[in-house]
Amino acid sequence: MNKKVSRRKFIKTSALIGCGIGLAGGGIMSGFISVRNRFDVIIKNGLVYSGNGDLPVVADIAIKGDKIAAIGEVGESANKIINADKLAVSPGFIDIHTHTDTNLLICPEGDSRIYQGITTDVGGNCGGSPFPYSDVEFEKQKNKLRRGYPAWQHVNGFFDALEKNKISINYASFTGHGDLRSAVVGDNDIPATKEQIEQMKNLLQHQIDCGSIGISYGLEYAPGSYANTRELVELCRVVAKNNALYAIHMRNEDDNVEDAIREAIEVARQAGARLEISHLKAQNANNWYKAPNMLKMIEEAYADGVDIAFDRYPYIAFSTGLSTFIPLWARQGSTGEILERLSDKTNFEKISQYAESRIKRLGGGQNVIITSGTGDNAKYIGKNLIECAEASHRQETDFIRDMLITHNGHVDMVCFAMTEDNVKMFLAHKLGMPASDGYVYSPTGELSAGKPHPRSYGTFPRFFGKYCRDEKITDLATAIMKMTKLPASRINLKNRGTIQAGYFADIVVFDENKIIDKAEFTNPHQFASGIEHVFVNGAHTINKGKHTGCRNGTVLRHVTT
Ligand SMILES: [Zn+2]
Repeated sequence: MNKKVSRRKFIKTSALIGCGIGLAGGGIMSGFISVRNRFDVIIKNGLVYSGNGDLPVVADIAIKGDKIAAIGEVGESANKIINADKLAVSPGFIDIHTHTDTNLLICPEGDSRIYQGITTDVGGNCGGSPFPYSDVEFEKQKNKLRRGYPAWQHVNGFFDALEKNKISINYASFTGHGDLRSAVVGDNDIPATKEQIEQMKNLLQHQIDCGSIGISYGLEYAPGSYANTRELVELCRVVAKNNALYAIHMRNEDDNVEDAIREAIEVARQAGARLEISHLKAQNANNWYKAPNMLKMIEEAYADGVDIAFDRYPYIAFSTGLSTFIPLWARQGSTGEILERLSDKTNFEKISQYAESRIKRLGGGQNVIITSGTGDNAKYIGKNLIECAEASHRQETDFIRDMLITHNGHVDMVCFAMTEDNVKMFLAHKLGMPASDGYVYSPTGELSAGKPHPRSYGTFPRFFGKYCRDEKITDLATAIMKMTKLPASRINLKNRGTIQAGYFADIVVFDENKIIDKAEFTNPHQFASGIEHVFVNGAHTINKGKHTGCRNGTVLRHVTT
């Protein structure tokens, strides 16, 4: 547990975080004010973690409008007083790696996110974002509605849809390189020409001008994987020019992971771009030993001036599409073309050999769990590949083929292929931060289907409760910093990520002895426990563990400085 600082000591030291009793810029706190209820909300007597990594202090926090108005002893004059006695108060958690995206249009309350204390999600990761579209594709789509909103071509159209819909959490987005490349080069395994690279650079610049926070690469997926290092560097020059961020799901995360880290760093170095390595991992038992060297490579780059950090989900299983059992050469082109290759006997023999070798490297079919499926195939959800093969009287790879064909290429899976020791080593590292790689889900409605990876519901409470409080991989103040200020600084968020007067009131109130994830692989649609209150831009969005229905989140657009 942290050593607690007395209120007296806090008042003396509060100036360090630029607050005390007062409001940034003077404003309503200058002089005596006789009006009643100076504040909208006072969070009273909580143990306040600033987010800076400092020891927590007992203090009140006053909210006025969407901002933190004062910190310290602020009196009782407010429309609402929250008793935070014995509770921790922290900046809202910031998830730098999500695939939240269009699910926010289905569940604008952001259930699986807000219930774990997340106030800001960063989407558009792993090379995938719901924009941009080529002019040709947009022409085809523009008269259709997407999730009830006019089709959009660029990030601003998607942001408009989110803003009109109103959302409960804040949202920022990378531009997915896969979609950028698809719009300019297409979906085949061909190098981009000089002209096409220029076109992609212009298109990326446009997304950043419209508020995207940078680019994400997904180099294990098609068509992003078809880009060579030169293309990555050229696009990252745009990122560097705008002081944006470059996130990378690397080209390889198992046998060649060290080469992949080398490439990621080289791109950052050559382009001068800031780098976030996504979901750092050494996958498959034969690669687990590589983790210390991977960190060494990152540390050396950092020491050498590369602006680098990484994120990691606090679980030993990863989750992706069953389609990743198809080799990259067979993942070219449209979904129809890919499914045709699966149906073709000669092609499938080669695909099957690749899939078999991959399953073997994952440790066998028992480590691969099917997590989605509809109709008759729903019975396979939660079962591993060996069980699925048995139940369907087919070979494992035949089962994979048939599932993909039936579901138009979209089937999800979870694979147990990492080790606890490495998870802890990555999360505890000074350049590492927790991030979910998750989606918006909800225990009810359209987004309650299947058994998705529990990280979408549990990442932050699990990181804090299991890894930091119980297993003590880091002290709690550092844990909070990794969940707040560190990700905020990576994406250049202004006035968020720490508890400070004048900053936006994105705040979580939780019981640090009780906070823990509840979502399990067998039963993932479960909210975490211990999260008492969440404020998003000053709005009381979780009250005593229940969603109030408030939708006061906002789109966070890139700022260059
Ligand atoms: Zn990824």
